[in-house]
Amino acid sequence: NINSNNQFDFKNKIELREIDYFYPNSKIKIIDKLSLQISFGEIIGIIGQSGAGKSTLIDLIIGLLTPSNGKILIDGKNIDLEKQNWQKQIGYIPQEVYLFDDTIKSNIAFGIPENKINYKNLKEAIKLAELEEFIQSLPEKENTIIGDRGTKLSGGQKQRIGIARSLYFKPKILIFDEPTASLDIKNEEKIMSHIFNLGGDLTILIISHRLSILKDCNKIVNLVNGKIDKISTYKSLLNNN
Ligand code: ADP
Repeated sequence: NINSNNQFDFKNKIELREIDYFYPNSKIKIIDKLSLQISFGEIIGIIGQSGAGKSTLIDLIIGLLTPSNGKILIDGKNIDLEKQNWQKQIGYIPQEVYLFDDTIKSNIAFGIPENKINYKNLKEAIKLAELEEFIQSLPEKENTIIGDRGTKLSGGQKQRIGIARSLYFKPKILIFDEPTASLDIKNEEKIMSHIFNLGGDLTILIISHRLSILKDCNKIVNLVNGKIDKISTYKSLLNNN
């Protein structure tokens, strides 16, 4: 575990206390007096229309943005004091995964010299991201060069590399930004069920427009104009639609 030398390991909860956020030079409150608690091991869905503030909220939780008012505590510690340690524990999976002109294994164990790759982590990550079959089908397996000058990958395969890249580093919290944008349904269900099975060991935040992907969430936060309109379960959300 790469985090084992950290002074600080996320174990308990993330607390957002009456957070406001204004972008610099803007008078519009994008996040408005928002309070939320996320317990370790929870799987939280974040929904809301485009412009509601979902990405801004995630950027605040990651510590890329600093609240204009209010505070964010990680296990009771102000996020500003632990930013680097905190960020090391976050696996972020963007909508668009960037691949380097390098082997699959180096794209997953990103930034790790080849002779230092932890093959146990690599194998687990490949398995959880449903990449095993694909990698086995390649002539040079995980040593196959991908990216611009190597094997071209589909959008879904790229995203699965992104998921494996996050999981390789054994994050404490995994954040998906619209994960299904490029995943096909079959893989989406398999990957998400593997990842949901990690729930308990891992805290998961998922921004999604697609309700179906949120069915295993403990709670689903509906953002409207930077405020939490409602926190629901998947069932109650379906019954209200
Ligand atoms: P969502 O993820 O729900 O679509 P965002 O958090 O991306 O919402 O955006 C919320 C609001 O913040 C939008 O009105 C958007 O225009 C505004 N916004 C986002 N980024 C910036 C920025 N860098 N500067 C100013 N306004 C921004």
